[in-house]
Amino acid sequence: MSEAAISIRNLVKEYAGEGQSPPKKALKGVSFDVPQGGVFGLLGPNGAGKSTLINILAGLVMKTSGEVSIWGHDIDRNQRNAKASIGIVPQEIVFDPFFTPFEVLENQGGMYGVPKALRRSEELLRAVHLADKRDAYARSLSGGMKRRLLIAKAMVHSPPILVLDEPTAGVDVELRRQLWELVGELNAEGVTVVLTTHYLEEAEELCERIAIINHGELITNKPTRELVGMMREKIIVLTVDQDIEIIPQSPAFLRCDKQGDRILEIAYNKDEITAGQVMGLIQDEGFRIKDVSTREADLEDVFVKLTSENNAI
Ligand code: ADP
Ligand code: MG
Repeated sequence: MSEAAISIRNLVKEYAGEGQSPPKKALKGVSFDVPQGGVFGLLGPNGAGKSTLINILAGLVMKTSGEVSIWGHDIDRNQRNAKASIGIVPQEIVFDPFFTPFEVLENQGGMYGVPKALRRSEELLRAVHLADKRDAYARSLSGGMKRRLLIAKAMVHSPPILVLDEPTAGVDVELRRQLWELVGELNAEGVTVVLTTHYLEEAEELCERIAIINHGELITNKPTRELVGMMREKIIVLTVDQDIEIIPQSPAFLRCDKQGDRILEIAYNKDEITAGQVMGLIQDEGFRIKDVSTREADLEDVFVKLTSENNAI
């Protein structure tokens, strides 16, 4: 068996276009491995192809070409074992509202052929902090409770890999914390976790390793430590007192772009230079600064940086 929990090679997905619309290539030949044991982040903006990739792992979407193996089992040649090795929490919450959490887990156990004696419904309810909701109707649960129940549901067959597709999209800060803790607990018990997110901060907090995809292509795949180091970038936006004819340049700037007749956007490394020094350099060019704002680098900035620096793999 290979070392990787999940191995993906040259994965391509082309959706047939509906009606007049042309076919859509959602994945354009993606290759990477998810190592065993950690928390792996698949990061990318909306429409990047994250759910497509996850749904291929889940057997819900047919790939166009490429190879995928899950816990050493090829998803085409050994579908049964591949499926048994993975639990998936989909992006959309779907439940039959008339079942109780306990019944939801028992039914799912039945679907996976887990013998009654080996079912862990009670234990899983405790693990996701829903023991006291055992017999409540699923429809009466809060959004957060439903998400936790979905995590338990994905774990009924005790897979070594748990995949969460945007577990915290649209949830409040409190619940996000709870879900993060739950992911940490499951991982501490030995479950390899893969999660997708479009929040850089979330991937940074939870994941040892981050792969970034955009427009169906893998942009990078690195230990979080390395990636975060590359993102020590900050952005300052300056409004000056005169039209900008020549864009000021300095080796201290990572980038300097004109955003309007009198607006400059400058990216710099916050470990190397301060905002005050950046402003000083602009003033040295003869500009007077009328207004200042700063922001942290976001995903878009990271893409610009990764693609412009040839760091892409
Ligand atoms: P993400 O989860 O990263 O937001 P998706 O995998 O959902 O991205 O979507 C990737 C691209 O594929 C998007 O352009 C989306 O519109 C398109 N897409 C997703 N599902 C379908 C589908 N069933 N039919 C056609 N196009 C789709
Ligand atoms: Mg998605």
